[in-house]
Amino acid sequence: MQSKTAADFPWTGSHPWDVDIAIVGGGPAGLAAAIRLRWLKSMPPLPLSTCLINSGPLGGLACLGNSILTGPGLAFPAAGLVSRLRDDLDRWPLPILNNKVIGVERRHDYFRLQLEDGGSLRAAAVIMACGMLDIRNMARFWRQGVLATFGNRANIFTILRRELPACRQPLVLGGAHLSRLQQTITTLNANATLLVPPSCQGAADTGNLLQGELLELRESAGVLKGALLKTDTGLVEKQVDRVIIEFNSLELGRGLLPSGLPCLENGYLQTTTNCRTTISGLFGAGDCTGPPFAALVAMGQGAEAAFAAYDYVHRMKYNLEPALFAYFGDSRVKDNLAAPDDFPLRAELVPARLLRECPVAGLEDLWHCLDGRTSLGALCQRQGLGEEELFRRINQLVKERALTFCPL
Ligand SMILES: Cc1cc2nc3c(=O)[nH]c(=O)nc-3n(C[C@H](O)[C@H](O)[C@H](O)COP(=O)(O)OP(=O)(O)OC[C@H]3O[C@@H](n4cnc5c(N)ncnc54)[C@H](O)[C@@H]3O)c2cc1C
Repeated sequence: MQSKTAADFPWTGSHPWDVDIAIVGGGPAGLAAAIRLRWLKSMPPLPLSTCLINSGPLGGLACLGNSILTGPGLAFPAAGLVSRLRDDLDRWPLPILNNKVIGVERRHDYFRLQLEDGGSLRAAAVIMACGMLDIRNMARFWRQGVLATFGNRANIFTILRRELPACRQPLVLGGAHLSRLQQTITTLNANATLLVPPSCQGAADTGNLLQGELLELRESAGVLKGALLKTDTGLVEKQVDRVIIEFNSLELGRGLLPSGLPCLENGYLQTTTNCRTTISGLFGAGDCTGPPFAALVAMGQGAEAAFAAYDYVHRMKYNLEPALFAYFGDSRVKDNLAAPDDFPLRAELVPARLLRECPVAGLEDLWHCLDGRTSLGALCQRQGLGEEELFRRINQLVKERALTFCPL
């Protein structure tokens, strides 16, 4: 999947934002939202541009391999889930930024997302699906140096007692409540380093407890050797042979999410009905909105947030309710679903580009005129083309999913 930068997004003409909907986080929640939105976009009459911003591997925590959807008669390994979602996105890609969102700021009628690399992206709506943990390249070392505590308190202590004495330089990641385990952890391994998120309240740096974030795990010949940390005092290289993610303290923690979001007392994004928040245009799905922490729930919420965000953007851009839930009642959309490569064009439709570059050689001149303001009828005159020929060319672009049509 190709990595994009903010500069890759086409300017949307009359709107002061780069992309209609930005999804933050590429775990089960973010992927489900992306697939749902991409599917909506694939229907030419539904105008939408979207992108995914993810700092870790696509799949999020489900990449850690051991989250399995279970039920009576069903056991579905997370790896299978992640690869199916990724395959689906690969077949019909969305722009993906390999970046981290560090701040979300509401500005007039759009959001400004501040990115870790110093850049920013403007989006009309934002779906926060960033989970509880920025997992960076940790999945690569899963069970080969990286492991997680899970379950009840007794289980956590069992894991710590088993793992900590057996390694030389462990790094334990968690939330603010990790400080309560500081003494236990230090007794089990005097070389242990504890790392809590930078904005955790009440967790000042003391002894081996650091406030900061993990940027990257280092390896040598495939073996975990160290970690690059970002702390208040700058970048720190640590020798590390084991990383333990203490999820229980993360679940209870604060300061896990980018700045500027409406958070609950316990740190989670505050959502209302349909994955909305108290800020219009801001939606939340998955673990970042609190328990239950389950992949299937995260995916359901991702899909729901996608519908809600689409509804919001459509109303804002066009002052119209989208025909979202009427695919099979709207004959225009139905026809399009039946024969997606032969969209019925009409002179009054107004095409708008969805891609930066023209994907069909020879149509570049026409491509640059598709500005979201000029109807097909006007384009016939401007290009000196008959309706039949113009529609033929436009349909070539429709087949490439390169443009959309503004509602009448
Ligand atoms: C050890 C373990 C076992 C589990 N077992 C099960 C199980 O058996 N069954 C089950 O259903 N669930 C299980 N889960 C839970 C399940 O994995 C999560 O509920 C699910 O992955 C949550 O999905 P999500 O998309 O909300 O967040 P995540 O999966 O956490 O994905 C979030 C993504 O966003 C990225 N990100 C974070 N911050 C930012 C940012 N600021 N900007 C950009 N990107 C960001 C992260 O790097 C990550 O890629 C388990 C979890 C763990 C850790």
